[in-house]
Amino acid sequence: MKKILEVKNLEVSFDTYAGEVQAVRDVSFDLYEGQTLAIVGESGSGKSVTAKSIMRLNPEPPVRYKGGQILLNGENILEKKEKEMQKIRGSHIGMIFQDPMTSLNPTMTVGKQIMEGLKKHQKVKGKEAKEIALKMLRMVQIPNPEKRFNEYPHQFSGGMRQRAMIAIALVCNPQILIADEPTTALDVTIQAQILDLMKDLQNKIKTSIILITHDLGVVADAAQRIVVMYGGKIVEHGTTDQIFYESRHPYTWGLLKSVPRLDIKKENSRLDSIEGTPPDLFSPPKGCPFADRCEYAMEICKKRMPPQFEVGKNHYSACWLNHEQAPKVENPIKRA
Ligand code: SF4
Repeated sequence: MKKILEVKNLEVSFDTYAGEVQAVRDVSFDLYEGQTLAIVGESGSGKSVTAKSIMRLNPEPPVRYKGGQILLNGENILEKKEKEMQKIRGSHIGMIFQDPMTSLNPTMTVGKQIMEGLKKHQKVKGKEAKEIALKMLRMVQIPNPEKRFNEYPHQFSGGMRQRAMIAIALVCNPQILIADEPTTALDVTIQAQILDLMKDLQNKIKTSIILITHDLGVVADAAQRIVVMYGGKIVEHGTTDQIFYESRHPYTWGLLKSVPRLDIKKENSRLDSIEGTPPDLFSPPKGCPFADRCEYAMEICKKRMPPQFEVGKNHYSACWLNHEQAPKVENPIKRA
């Protein structure tokens, strides 16, 4: 598989009046052609800042890229000028957001908004652009596309607006689609339809997807690899099966226990929450960022940042429990 995106040791900070917020710290991962990679974590974990960095959509200032590289086809995005980024956005990387109502232009018909990208990036106009836009509306399964083409976003339902956003994001055949919490604002049935649609489109047009979510339940069926972020750092990274069934990090265990599952044994049907609050990123802890909330925390955890231990084939966990001298702790998540 061809590697199309490489994020290497990314460091992103926000410069605020109160000081520096170290939102993303030493984050590295790769994205391969046709693959879906999920970035999972709770609010403030750094997942959305990481995703927006790939498109350089974070406002600069207050955002400052302190270090690292984001290589798209071998070229560093962080060295690009705004004009070059405008060409990359839409043509190489498309993005869909949580709430399509705030991303779609309420004063422009949906058809025109789909054609806009074609005009800007591919110089396709008029009848030809309209044909392609209608094809996209059909592809994202919007019923009666000829009529819907001339309608405004407020005339679409929530699910249809998200479909329209996907059509806009994919109209120029980008190599990468970044989906930032794309189903959070939708009800469960529509959520499943949108995820199925993304999977179906990926098979058809071979786009690679980065799926950002706080909900591990959403990614089980949608992603091949999962990156788990906490306190601005990657705490675990592996295939979907490794994360779901062979996880080696207490934070991932906490996330797994907080989603409804039929495939694991549980003594009761209660969903657990992770007690406590995420670390203060104005002055991140020098040891493990999860130490204050972790029931397995040891003395070393507060003193030294755990390295990324390779715990399986391409499976990494930043937890001292994986050290050969650490006490043996069993994964509490058991298959049914
Ligand atoms: Fe818990 Fe220590 Fe592992 Fe951090 S390094 S997750 S505090 S056991």
